[in-house]
Amino acid sequence: MTTTSADITTEALGQLAAGLRGELIVPSDPRYDAARAVYNGMIDKHPAAIARCRDTADVITCVRFGRDHGIELAVRGGGHNAAGLGVADAALVIDMSLLRSTTVDPANRTVRADAGCTWGDVDHATIAFGMATPSGFLASTGVAGLTLGGGIGYLSRRFGLTVDNLLAADVVLADGTLVTASANSHSDLFWALRGGGGNFGIVTSFTFRCHDIGEGGTIIGGPVFYDLADLGDVMRWYRELIPSLPEELSGWIALLTVPPVPLFPEELWGRKVCGIVWCYTGWHDRAEAVLEPVKTFGSPLIVGLQAMPFSILQSTFDPLYPAGLQWYWRADFFNEISDAAIEVHRKYGELLPTGHSTMHLYPIDGATSRVAADATAFAYRDGGWAGVIVGVDPDPANAGRISQWAKDYWTELHPTSAGGGYVNFLMDEGQDRVKAAYRGNYDRLAQIKERYDPDNIFHVNQNIQPGSQG
Ligand SMILES: Cc1cc2nc3c(=O)[nH]c(=O)nc-3n(C[C@H](O)[C@H](O)[C@H](O)COP(=O)(O)OP(=O)(O)OC[C@H]3O[C@@H](n4cnc5c(N)ncnc54)[C@H](O)[C@@H]3O)c2cc1C
Repeated sequence: MTTTSADITTEALGQLAAGLRGELIVPSDPRYDAARAVYNGMIDKHPAAIARCRDTADVITCVRFGRDHGIELAVRGGGHNAAGLGVADAALVIDMSLLRSTTVDPANRTVRADAGCTWGDVDHATIAFGMATPSGFLASTGVAGLTLGGGIGYLSRRFGLTVDNLLAADVVLADGTLVTASANSHSDLFWALRGGGGNFGIVTSFTFRCHDIGEGGTIIGGPVFYDLADLGDVMRWYRELIPSLPEELSGWIALLTVPPVPLFPEELWGRKVCGIVWCYTGWHDRAEAVLEPVKTFGSPLIVGLQAMPFSILQSTFDPLYPAGLQWYWRADFFNEISDAAIEVHRKYGELLPTGHSTMHLYPIDGATSRVAADATAFAYRDGGWAGVIVGVDPDPANAGRISQWAKDYWTELHPTSAGGGYVNFLMDEGQDRVKAAYRGNYDRLAQIKERYDPDNIFHVNQNIQPGSQG
């Protein structure tokens, strides 16, 4: 059974508001339009109310209210999900964005982050101690959604996915109880949370293992750009180079248009390029030798490598992608970057539809692929890349154009893929794509879903259906 939304009375919402420490924003509230907006400007959902929770008790109150009144629940962490899964029509949105505290334990090298944190909040907290935990490639993304889907980032080659560094999570379950999931407590739930998304409950806080990064938190990183005409040579070199590099060095490859910002030389603004963004987290006295092949290959247009705090690299691209742009993306994992794939990249790189549109391939290897595919819910561990084709533009009039480009590109590239995509990069693509994202782990996830959420009240997500329904 899936809970469906019912009409909810003003009186009932008033009672809910009275029971919260946080605020309840209803459609008549002048803040309603700002509160219902998510990162992707294409998403235009009208929830019944948005509860900005102040504490775990507020989250429990909202879950019980949703059950008692048969109202659909949506859960919002950082609001970055491109499919817009942090909000839904006629739902009660349980918004975690006011819960943003972090606690670093330098002696035990851990950080605890509330579920409304962005990665910028966590990096800020840990880099003061010269440490970081693996996250993504941007600071504004939510800790909650990124972690629950897996978490692929600059540090994944060296230290694994975000979920490989998750030590514990506090979770409000569908029946309104609170549990801590870890290797020793609710270990089945802990397995499922590490990649299974928001299907199993509402996480109120996460505890992660931290690692020393660079020297006192200072790494060497930045972009190297090549002419799009060199794409074939660059991609062939890159696919051979990455597996041979020490894990202190990682780099993701992209097709993009150089943005018109002072970060890049003005003569390159507007030029379509193939770029690699590198991040070296090892000792600086080894940097020259490790980075030598990266600096000397081919005829780069710019080599923008420099020493900087890790948190600066993580936030470098945020200003280029503010909230509210139109987003449509499609994704797959790839075990290899084949010659056939390179030809597809060449074709669609030349057709990049707007200045913000791009394609990224992120390495899935090193520490990430040393974890067994069934050790966590995240199933694609066998080496290669996570790819995402990203149509983006500020103008809603271009929504159709960027979506079509991404779909066409994906359709031609998909035959070269490993079969499924990263769950955090899926749009609303149907149940077969959700199953493909989890491969052999789906059935176990469905069983755990049956145990923790048999009525599927947490279904505004890439939904894993309870075992008896699947
Ligand atoms: C610009 C951009 C850059 C990105 N970069 C990366 C990257 O580098 N690496 C990477 O791995 N991914 C990346 N992603 C994908 C990102 O991981 C997903 O979009 C993720 O869903 C965002 O999490 P959020 O909390 O911001 O999203 P939200 O939209 O708030 O939520 C996403 C999903 O998680 C659920 N959820 C949120 N909070 C909770 C909670 N507390 N408990 C239970 N469920 C919850 C929601 O219900 C929803 O289903 C990026 C996305 C964007 C748009």
